[in-house]
Amino acid sequence: MKRTSSSRQADYKPVNVYLGLGSNLGDRQHNLNMALELLAQRVKVVKVSSTYDTEPVGNPDQPRFLNLVARIQTRLAPLELLTLTQGIELMLGRIRDKPNAPRSLDIDILFYGDQVIKNRKLTIPHPRIEERAFVLVPLAEIAPKLIHPVSGKSAEKLLAALKQGVQGVFKLSNGG
Ligand code: AMP
Repeated sequence: MKRTSSSRQADYKPVNVYLGLGSNLGDRQHNLNMALELLAQRVKVVKVSSTYDTEPVGNPDQPRFLNLVARIQTRLAPLELLTLTQGIELMLGRIRDKPNAPRSLDIDILFYGDQVIKNRKLTIPHPRIEERAFVLVPLAEIAPKLIHPVSGKSAEKLLAALKQGVQGVFKLSNGG
């Protein structure tokens, strides 16, 4: 295939990506289901964790979240994927407000293969994975041996090392 700047990523093998999804406004389960359906129109959704009901972190004065982690495969470049996930957030009615404000849908790009990326729009691996039980519990459920490319630790090790433990994170329904 002729390589052009716009088809750069298309020449490569699909990349394994982990996304963290969360919702604490409106019909939270519906929001997560819709987000997975919209993602599946553009990327291959390979595995989805159980859904967890979790305590809000940062600003405790807001409703509880539902969280899950999904493994996808995509040829989209990281910034193209961010455009897709932010488009889905907007479609599901998220208003970009203050940090830690309630949100109908939040999608974080947790890992993009084993790439380490830091630019104005993206930090990958996501910088707060190691301190968030609501990410590490579903991540370790579907990918316990996944290695964080910066710390070199597996998801299950990171989960075991969580200082604040996993209180406030309750499994609600099984994934697929
Ligand atoms: P938040 O409000 O927490 O969803 O943050 C959204 C902002 O974080 C966006 O402006 C993104 O450009 C930026 N961002 C940086 N790294 C990531 C990442 N790994 N996944 C998603 N958003 C990211």
